[in-house]
Amino acid sequence: MEHRNSLNVINSSFLIGMPLLAIVSVVFYSLQYGISWVEPLIFVAFYLACGLSITAGYHRLFSHRTHKAAWPMRLFYALFGAAAFQNSAIKWCSDHRRHHLKTDKEEDPYTVKKGFMWAHMGWVMVDQGEEIVEHVEDLQADKILAWQDRHIFLIGFLVGIVLPGAVGYLALGGTHGFLGGMIYGGFLRVVVVHHATFLINSAAHTWGTQPYSTANTSRDSPILSFLTFGEGYHNFHHTFQADYRNGHKWYHWDPSKWWIKVASWFGMTKDLHKIPKKSIESQKMKTAFEQSSGSEDVSSEVQAKLTHCVQQLRKGFTDLMKRREEYKLAKMERKKESKEAWKQRKEAHKARIKACKEQIAQARMEFKQLMQSIKVNQPIASV
Ligand SMILES: [Zn+2]
Ligand SMILES: [Zn+2]
Repeated sequence: MEHRNSLNVINSSFLIGMPLLAIVSVVFYSLQYGISWVEPLIFVAFYLACGLSITAGYHRLFSHRTHKAAWPMRLFYALFGAAAFQNSAIKWCSDHRRHHLKTDKEEDPYTVKKGFMWAHMGWVMVDQGEEIVEHVEDLQADKILAWQDRHIFLIGFLVGIVLPGAVGYLALGGTHGFLGGMIYGGFLRVVVVHHATFLINSAAHTWGTQPYSTANTSRDSPILSFLTFGEGYHNFHHTFQADYRNGHKWYHWDPSKWWIKVASWFGMTKDLHKIPKKSIESQKMKTAFEQSSGSEDVSSEVQAKLTHCVQQLRKGFTDLMKRREEYKLAKMERKKESKEAWKQRKEAHKARIKACKEQIAQARMEFKQLMQSIKVNQPIASV
């Protein structure tokens, strides 16, 4: 495939000009007016609104369809997503779906194989032939998104620059207030949200661990999740892109997941899709095995042991889910029986749950031994 690469003057001027404008205006504003608690507050509010519109909206809802959202939610994402100045949801998702479909290949618009800076922002600054918008018919059929696509720059300017200025005007008054809101909630915030998002394409494809798959360059970088509303668990995301969570454990820092979950309590989101735990855990086991055995050919005996461990683990999790469900049902019905009878039944339920957990632990133990045996055998195999 032949590409005629040339500089995209508008995008390049924006990506280089905005940080300069942000720095100069913050310095000018500080010398002229100082700073109160209002400016940082406007910054944080717009950082949250625009950041979440990209991660929970553009990414997890529109690109991956991991859940459904009511129209006020989609409108919110359309407005504040535009204010993030990362193009319309339709174009953003077209690029992003291609990124998943062709990860690390020539067709991947922001492949890290062309370098860290290319994946970070270079790809936005260079015209790569004709713009392709594909595989987004579902989004084009959404009236809110089609409207956003038609007026993307006007909406971005009004919601991303004028609105924070207006908030500043209301809070502090006069030119002082308007400038404060515009500079902190507009200019500076645009730059921070930009680079936080860009880091997912560059850093999350360069640094971190690969617990779920080594098929592509995506990595889990929990530290990045603090800057990007949970998007740092990128190896998990590339492996299980239909999951509305990126950090799948309850303690994983993933504010986008919490936002989507809390919205579901108010009927604003529904059909939150989760990959079953047994699939996640068995995938993790297989990946750890692949990483440990490397390119070495493993014997059929070792392969059979691995398959056994994976099957045991999956069965353990399937049973555990069933037993927990049964216990939950039993708890709801317990009023019908005497205290003593319930006590006995409760103990029986608990014992069965414990047995499942032991089965899981046993599978993990056998797997650990298997991994150790590979490590012991490796130097001999390489002689
Ligand atoms: Zn994605
Ligand atoms: Zn990626």
